[in-house]
Amino acid sequence: MSEKLDQLNKLYAEIDDLHRAAAILEWDQQAYMPPGGARPRAAQLATLARIAHEQFTSDRMGYLLDSLEKELGDQPYDDDNLSIVRVLRRDYNKAVRLPAAFVSELAEARGLATSAWAQARHANDWAMFEEYLARMVELKHREADYIGFSDRKYDALLDEYEPDMKTTQVAEIFEPLRRELVELVRAISEHADRVDSSALHKEYDPDKQWLLAHEALRTIGYDFHRGRMDRVPHPFCTSFSIHDVRVTNRVIPDFFNSCFFGAMHEGGHALYEQGVDMKYERTALAGGTSLAVHESQSRMWENMVGRSRAFWEFFFPKFRKAFRKNATGLDAEKMFRAVNEVTPSFIRVEADEVTYSLHIMLRFEVENLLMDNKLRVSELPAWWDEAMSSYLGITPPTVAQGALQDVHWSIGLIGYFPTYSLGTIFAAQLFEKAQQVMPDLQEQFARGNFDNLRGWLTENIYCHGRKYTLNELAMRITGEPLQTRSYIKYLKDKYSEIYEL
Ligand code: ZN
Repeated sequence: MSEKLDQLNKLYAEIDDLHRAAAILEWDQQAYMPPGGARPRAAQLATLARIAHEQFTSDRMGYLLDSLEKELGDQPYDDDNLSIVRVLRRDYNKAVRLPAAFVSELAEARGLATSAWAQARHANDWAMFEEYLARMVELKHREADYIGFSDRKYDALLDEYEPDMKTTQVAEIFEPLRRELVELVRAISEHADRVDSSALHKEYDPDKQWLLAHEALRTIGYDFHRGRMDRVPHPFCTSFSIHDVRVTNRVIPDFFNSCFFGAMHEGGHALYEQGVDMKYERTALAGGTSLAVHESQSRMWENMVGRSRAFWEFFFPKFRKAFRKNATGLDAEKMFRAVNEVTPSFIRVEADEVTYSLHIMLRFEVENLLMDNKLRVSELPAWWDEAMSSYLGITPPTVAQGALQDVHWSIGLIGYFPTYSLGTIFAAQLFEKAQQVMPDLQEQFARGNFDNLRGWLTENIYCHGRKYTLNELAMRITGEPLQTRSYIKYLKDKYSEIYEL
């Protein structure tokens, strides 16, 4: 290894340490920290963010990247070292546009807004959160101005989560998809009696739910030697190292889906992070490549696996053992149908596969209004209720079930939501390919074998870490760029069968 490469990797490893330490503080803030810790924690996070940013945007980093681009220029595209330099260059060019003082200001605002959001949501009181969100929106405007954009201000924010994706491209994908989804939801609503999900809305002992969620994670191959699950108000997955990838989850005592599918979803994210090649530890290639590719994995494991008939053929006996009373009158087939009920609902993370993307399109729309200065934060809850009524035909009874439900805006994640749907679309494209390569995949699931799917995903996606972008992966694996054809076909095939359309 060249001397400069060695220096670059050493410098980056320390920056990575700072980011991972901040991730531990953020995880603790959600999972264990008492409310009184909010201010000092925000200051601690701001300090770490500032030091990491100063080191990352240092002249030394710029010099090393310049030198290594010359030195490694004739290496093949997928060369590890060249890929490290390429990925760092992309991050560096964006980071140098943000002043260190701004980064620390943003980190502190995030810390305060997250705590305010949690309290506001608990109290079902928008006013408690409003000023924090207004401040966050103002900071995101400034961030977009620092980063720069040629067309839409939103482009600058979107690019942070999905490199090279543009607002207009997302709109072009969403618009025709919206028409297909609305039509499918309408057709399903006329056959709503084909599915009975009442068994899922009973009292489910929280401790037993928690144990069954662990069982689900073990089933899909989550490595508890390199992870654990803790309770939080809003589930997420976070990685402190390839050797320590945490999932978080919540339990709703009278609804089965939340904890179980929360575990499958975050478990999908975690399989990706745990599957990165160990040789990338503490390098710029450690971790998932983009939010949409990450979400393709969480939603594939949650829905294409966890909500498949074959999965429940295997898993139903475990469910029956845990909840003998609730399982009375149920079987694998009824359970499969129940967990696939399609019905307009208020909470995005509990939405079914068909209505889910409509929740995302609503958020994409409102974020664009905020970034185009066409909507004030104070007007947001009323706008939200109206949009829910036009998208899904329902109006949230409380603001906690409406505009206050997601943690994202409080931590500054504006431009992030579209990646959920882009990921879902990619998941279907990948899953179609996986089934072509392994035609007996469903039989494998029914026998409780998920290793081959995980192995195929590890080999094609997980092991590469951040080396390839979404479209590069799509081309390498499926031979075509991101497309909605597979997703629409997947939904129509599955739900036409379940709802006898
Ligand atoms: Zn997710």
